[in-house]
Amino acid sequence: MAADAVHPVPPLPGPSHRLGEDGSQIDSLRCESCGRCFSNRDSLVHHRKVHAGVTTCALCGKVLNKVAYLRVHLQLVHRLDEQRIRAMVPTRRRYTYRGT
Ligand SMILES: [Zn+2]
Ligand SMILES: [Zn+2]
Repeated sequence: MAADAVHPVPPLPGPSHRLGEDGSQIDSLRCESCGRCFSNRDSLVHHRKVHAGVTTCALCGKVLNKVAYLRVHLQLVHRLDEQRIRAMVPTRRRYTYRGT
């Protein structure tokens, strides 16, 4: 009785095919970090923040898609008040419309 020989399984070649190059327009709207494509420029600009770590929750490490989602996440999941959220989430918007 011979013991079962363990055959080393060669690593399967992953899908290495590139994206179709028939649409050259998409190329400018592709994230250079993860290769994801976007239909409009605004989405790509928002998406880049994900790689910048801006949308990563400092408390649980969850990565949100947008800064706005992170704010909501901090509010709903971690129950932070607006002051804390503002301190954690960098925002470039000015709060100038508050005076009534
Ligand atoms: Zn990306
Ligand atoms: Zn979190």
